[in-house]
Amino acid sequence: MARTKDTHGKVAIISGPSGVGKSTICRELVKRLENVYLSVSMTTREKSEEEVDGKDYWFVSEEDFRRRIDEGLFLEYAEVFGSLYGTPADKIEEAREAGKLVLLEIDVQGARQVKAVFADAAMIFILPPSAKILAERLDGRGRDAAEVAAERLMGADAEIAAAWRYYEHMVINDNLAQAVDECVKIIENMRSANRQNNEG
Ligand code: 5GP
Repeated sequence: MARTKDTHGKVAIISGPSGVGKSTICRELVKRLENVYLSVSMTTREKSEEEVDGKDYWFVSEEDFRRRIDEGLFLEYAEVFGSLYGTPADKIEEAREAGKLVLLEIDVQGARQVKAVFADAAMIFILPPSAKILAERLDGRGRDAAEVAAERLMGADAEIAAAWRYYEHMVINDNLAQAVDECVKIIENMRSANRQNNEG
């Protein structure tokens, strides 16, 4: 039976607990991978001083976010630590149609929704070397108030437990360069498997 060629870009999901270094890994992946689009999520969370609207996130009101849910504008969305986060669908479709690899930095709930739409998406979960190091990194970035940091740390256990169940790739971020190398390999393997499929 003839196979239909799929020239659309593939999707790679990067998840992991707060403070594990996901954003740094994603920024490195954008430098290392060809033809890649890093999705900018929308959130109702308050913007921190270092963050830039439209670059780190699109920061919107809850009313605006809920209107977009009603209009079906999100590929996925979830409530995380009391705020809403979602992936705008239009940009993802544009990038996939242009054959770009789409990189999504989203939580486990969102990842499962995306996997339901794109069954061949690569799901990568970033683990800290230890709980102690994760706590130190969260303290060190100084972005969150003490209670928020504590809440994020508690959430890490549940998220890691869920990840063992749903993610096919677990990468430990002990050494940044090594973790990035592992992610590059996983994504390149997915892309070449797709290329072979199209050629076969
Ligand atoms: P933060 O507030 O630390 O930037 O993000 C909190 C959590 O929300 C992280 O686990 C992050 O991966 C997740 N997140 C960020 N954007 C999205 C999104 O668009 N959808 C979902 N489901 N989660 C997201």
